[in-house]
Amino acid sequence: MRFHVLTLFPEAFRIITEYSIIGRAVERGLISVEATDIRQFTTDRHGTADDYQFGGGPGMVMKPEPVFAAVDAALANIQTEERERTPIALTSPQGHVLNQQLVDEFAAAPGVVIICGHYAGVDERIRTGLITHEVSIGDYVLTGGELAAMVIIDAVSRFVPDVVGSEENVRDDSITSGLLQHPLYTRPAAFRGMAAPEVLRSGNHAEIERWRRRQSLERTLKLRPDLLATAALTNSDRAYLASLGWDGGDV
Ligand code: SAH
Repeated sequence: MRFHVLTLFPEAFRIITEYSIIGRAVERGLISVEATDIRQFTTDRHGTADDYQFGGGPGMVMKPEPVFAAVDAALANIQTEERERTPIALTSPQGHVLNQQLVDEFAAAPGVVIICGHYAGVDERIRTGLITHEVSIGDYVLTGGELAAMVIIDAVSRFVPDVVGSEENVRDDSITSGLLQHPLYTRPAAFRGMAAPEVLRSGNHAEIERWRRRQSLERTLKLRPDLLATAALTNSDRAYLASLGWDGGDV
């Protein structure tokens, strides 16, 4: 999986490429993160990548020419048959809010081009004439798209085979599974008067699974009841939820 990031601040991406799970995935060649400086594609000697907005108003706007040229250069490195399947994503608070469905869609692609806006934003022609996706990471506004791009890269990389250890099934995680995950405990069994549940130390796998499923359902009902409407639930899940007062989502 190749991530091509177009940014005014390529050094920022060292935060993810040099540490922890994503850093190791880069090192092992499972993913690559190429952060390209948009300024390389400016044509004047000052390297002007942004300009005042037509119509007046505060804040600089990222110019279209260097961004289009940077995307052309990124695509030129991708084989023709893969090019059509490569999303060109603009980070933007106006976009589709990143969710599991979009993460799965990107993870299935051979690579993703991600454009990081900055300042007041980008020239509208980048939105209308260049990108295939506009992606937000939530309903708030960041100063630039770099952190948003890193969030996208991190979330998508977890679904690239072997990036996350095989002992951890990423499909069992909260949200991805459709529910919130059960609570996790490790040693010590008793800590500051708080004990880890006896059942988890019982060695009885059927009981442990039952406890975990019930905790997961209970927690989802309490914190994210909206998820229950689309979660894959068995009859026994439904019966358990009903015993907790769930109305089956009918409102
Ligand atoms: N004036 C713009 C916001 C610009 S914020 C507007 O009102 O729509 C500057 C840049 O930060 C954006 O171009 C985008 O790349 C990034 N950004 C800000 N908030 C974001 C969010 N919630 N998700 C993804 N990217 C965001």
